[in-house]
Amino acid sequence: MHDKQIFDLIDQELHRQREGVELIASENFTSAEVMRAMGSCLTNKYAEGLPGKRYYGGCQWVDEVETIAIERIKKLFGAVWANVQPHSGAQANAAVMLACIKPGDKILGFDLSHGGHLTHGSAVNFSGKLYVPSFYGVEKETGRIDMNKVRETALREKPKLIICGASAYSRDWDYKTFRAIADEVGAVLLADISHPAGLIAAKLLNDPMPHCHIITTTTHKTLRGPRGGLIMIGQDMENPFGEKTLKGELKSLSAVLDGAVFPGTQGGPLEHVIAAKAIAFGEALSDNFVSYQKQVAANAQSLAAALVSRGFQIISGGTDNHLMLIDLRNKNVSGKQAENALVKADITANKNMVPYDDKSPFVTSGIRLGTPAVTTRGMKEKDMEQIAVWIDTLINSPENETLINSVKNEVNEYMKAFPLYE
Ligand SMILES: *Cc1c(COP(=O)(O)O)cnc(C)c1O
Repeated sequence: MHDKQIFDLIDQELHRQREGVELIASENFTSAEVMRAMGSCLTNKYAEGLPGKRYYGGCQWVDEVETIAIERIKKLFGAVWANVQPHSGAQANAAVMLACIKPGDKILGFDLSHGGHLTHGSAVNFSGKLYVPSFYGVEKETGRIDMNKVRETALREKPKLIICGASAYSRDWDYKTFRAIADEVGAVLLADISHPAGLIAAKLLNDPMPHCHIITTTTHKTLRGPRGGLIMIGQDMENPFGEKTLKGELKSLSAVLDGAVFPGTQGGPLEHVIAAKAIAFGEALSDNFVSYQKQVAANAQSLAAALVSRGFQIISGGTDNHLMLIDLRNKNVSGKQAENALVKADITANKNMVPYDDKSPFVTSGIRLGTPAVTTRGMKEKDMEQIAVWIDTLINSPENETLINSVKNEVNEYMKAFPLYE
């Protein structure tokens, strides 16, 4: 039997991806091999446990696959340990919190309304329901994090876990100072590098590995792998929270984290996705990947400059990474209106709160733009200038349907030069 209904819809989605300009900062296009692994027979296999220590028979081949994935990601980041089973970034963070803190403990994260992530203590998320969150944010004047304020908040709140990392912050992170603060208050330091992971792997941004106890990331953003997550230990394997085994020995940090993934928060691992992760990590170990990440950053610089020259305001004035947050308040257009106008012209981006936003999360005053996906399509600096021209046209007349339609035709024609999955 052939399910025409669903496969027709998948074809429509492929068509949408081919024809449009993808500026959602958290999206990317995986290689064809990564997708092939995800659609493989490995989806049929139960493999609860870890390579060599499974609760099911017949795991000899998935054991090898998972071991290769672990070895490759350790090499890529210089980590001493990794667990590649988390189904997503949110699952990776859930496992870390289950491992490190108890319900009712205090956590300190980056404010969601300033660009943080739901899993860093938001009231609607498990992290804000089970734990007691406090937040640091960016300064109104600079759009940047002030480390003295982070320290003040940490000293006042005495959190057990401090999280650095964000979903919409265009500046680099001072992991070293975060660690000094964590040590001062006796907190575990988690870096969630879900967004900039690819740029960090290519050594274009500060390295969290020497400074953070634990590092989590998604695998599908700048890292350009399948949808998923993972957990790493940077340097010290020593368990900072003193959990003991039944025999009274101190458990290693890796054992506590492994246990928090399975059986703590997940059942069987997705071995087809782990195979795809292994392929993506192999790709990330190549020289091509470093050139790709350099182009991602160069394109972000170029897009930011082209938008600024057209009167757009970027939070913090620019970007160090692959993304930027545009403050639309001087344009008298909401994030929602801007997103709608762009999407109608096949330019996909998402509305986003800006720091100190007076509009709701459903309306917002900003949009977030990122270059990982368009860079995978093969776009360069001059293409970013063309994108800025389209964005400027659309945001200056977000209700002009004739204009939107003519931009859409231009976009669809332009993208024919950047083939996808031919
Ligand atoms: C995207 C993201 C996540 C969550 O990833 P999912 O795979 O969507 O669960 C977690 N943390 C940060 C900082 C992110 O940007």
